[in-house]
Amino acid sequence: MGERALRGTRLGATSYENDRNTDLAPRQEVSYTCPKGHLTTVPLAVEAEIPTNWECRYCGSPALRVDAEQPQQKKAKPPRTHWDMLLERRSIEDLEEVLNERLAILREQRRKSA
Ligand SMILES: [Zn+2]
Repeated sequence: MGERALRGTRLGATSYENDRNTDLAPRQEVSYTCPKGHLTTVPLAVEAEIPTNWECRYCGSPALRVDAEQPQQKKAKPPRTHWDMLLERRSIEDLEEVLNERLAILREQRRKSA
């Protein structure tokens, strides 16, 4: 129902408590700078793992996280995963392309061996 989208206009009738666990997860802005000095700011859920790299939204270079003085970011950094390292070299689109290629090959092989 369209009414759901309008609930912000009738806050008095809706409890914040009910919303907290649904779509109003707390957000933080995380900033990244690329080698060319572009600043890319990304809104991320507070509970989400903060990636150390992000693709620069201006030039597509890998941008490094800026450690702003936001208390949420004082959490221990998660250890770098293979995935993090992959992301430094590949954008999500690249990865999806590679994944799709791989899946096509796998399906092909399965079809042959079946
Ligand atoms: Zn850039």
